[in-house]
Amino acid sequence: MDPMQTPVDHDVVIIGSGFSGIGMAIALQRSGRSFTVLEKAHDIGGTWRDNLYPGCACDVPSHLYSFSFEPNPYWSRAYATADEIQDYLLYVVEKYDVRKDVQFDAQVTRGVYDESLRVWHLTVLGSDGVETHLVAGAVVLGVGALHEPSLPDIPGLETFAGEVMHTASWDPGASMFGRKVGIIGTGASAVQAIPLLAEDADHLTVFQRTPAWVLPKVDPEYPDALQDAYDKRPWLMKLHRAKIRTANELRAIAFTRVPALLKAASAGAAANIRRSVTDPELRRKLIPDYTMGCKRITFSNAYYPALAREDVDVETEHITGADARGLVTADGARHDLDVLVLATGFDVAGSYRHLNFTGARGHDLGEDWDAGITSYYGVTVPHFPNLFFLLGPNTALGHTSVLMMIEAQIALTLRLLDERDRRRAGAVQVREAVAQAHMAALDRRTQRTVWIAGGCDSWYLDQFGRNRVLWPGSVPEYERATRRTEMVDYEFTGSRASVSSSR
Ligand code: NAP
Repeated sequence: MDPMQTPVDHDVVIIGSGFSGIGMAIALQRSGRSFTVLEKAHDIGGTWRDNLYPGCACDVPSHLYSFSFEPNPYWSRAYATADEIQDYLLYVVEKYDVRKDVQFDAQVTRGVYDESLRVWHLTVLGSDGVETHLVAGAVVLGVGALHEPSLPDIPGLETFAGEVMHTASWDPGASMFGRKVGIIGTGASAVQAIPLLAEDADHLTVFQRTPAWVLPKVDPEYPDALQDAYDKRPWLMKLHRAKIRTANELRAIAFTRVPALLKAASAGAAANIRRSVTDPELRRKLIPDYTMGCKRITFSNAYYPALAREDVDVETEHITGADARGLVTADGARHDLDVLVLATGFDVAGSYRHLNFTGARGHDLGEDWDAGITSYYGVTVPHFPNLFFLLGPNTALGHTSVLMMIEAQIALTLRLLDERDRRRAGAVQVREAVAQAHMAALDRRTQRTVWIAGGCDSWYLDQFGRNRVLWPGSVPEYERATRRTEMVDYEFTGSRASVSSSR
């Protein structure tokens, strides 16, 4: 078929309606392109719709964890809770009228790039079990990497008679009152959930493999008068945002260039743990032996007091199995439980593998990435033309708001689409050699970061010990680099398919 005559349903299909997908939708709406958003759930949102565990909040200040084009004077406190962030996203969706462009209960189960027509064929599964097909001139993945729950491989877990809940698939109706609760994990999600679980449960056992560095949280409420001031004087709010942005960026220096600063700060943080926990045995369990920042630093004033409660135990023995009554640890101890909470994080590679994307010349995204993730600024991937990632590899952050990264990636995606169309080309993809050189440069830079030098094992590192999750620099540097990326780094090929009216 002549590519010029290929009917595509949409110029762009966005997968996911979290911050990435909605930000992209608004940008496409402004640019006048035809697009649709496919959302596998029944409502808008991603992280902040799904993570309903008690205590869920963002540890990035809200005035920075919002779109730059849609500041919100009404944040109620420095660090908003999950539901306040979700309300903000819903407000943005209504204000920009993008709900009509979202297809709900639409799970993409397959994506195949058609090399002759230079389009993507997407298979979409509805909640009614019916499969439909879409043809897209380009696909934007707004699915994120922290999305598929990672489940621990515990022998016998399927025989446990109590309730099992992952923090990212929480039943909001679940009650912990009067129940014996166990929680596996002490990462960012667990640190937020544990204080509230401890309050409600009859007894809480925290199964800790590696302790987290938990710092005090300064989280003031914003009084009405301040919210009014931000509303009436937007420059004041902008100033506040700029202040937070600058302060957070200073942290990037410690993470990416001078981990010795974090080593020194670790001593102060350890002193804080000693002050908060009087039991020497518990202290010994809770003070990490790796440098702060090697894993995500978490913030809570309630975490250590919760662990010090009489009705809370911290179990550091390895979990060896489960049976109908609960968990068994390596020392042979039995831990009877009514509820087991899995705060065990996410399957980063699986988040993309489940999409089943096949690019040019039969390249399978999952298989390619099993052999080693390659991308260019986390947005484009060799052999996957007309495919764009938001918050893709090496673009997560440990020091500040990822929304700034998302906005830079949206801008780059639009620039590439515009350039493709200006050249009347059918496809744009990054040159493989360019992406490989980029990854090699990232690897060199990552060597001096705390993620490598900090002495821990984390999900930031792949099976080869290379960081494939975090951006090893500052946000301004990423913004500059993506703004200046040269078009010569990309291949523009073929001629353009025509867009039929949206079905
Ligand atoms: P996580 O950081 O991956 O933590 C998972 C925890 O479970 C770790 O303590 C891990 O121990 C433990 N674990 C995993 N598998 C285990 C097993 N088989 N047996 C025993 N322990 C096991 O997951 P998360 O806390 O859900 O956080 C994930 C990410 O989400 C964060 O890094 C952050 O990017 C994001 N997040 C952000 C916020 C926020 O406020 N912005 C809040 C929550 C989450 P090891 O350390 O030994 O592996």
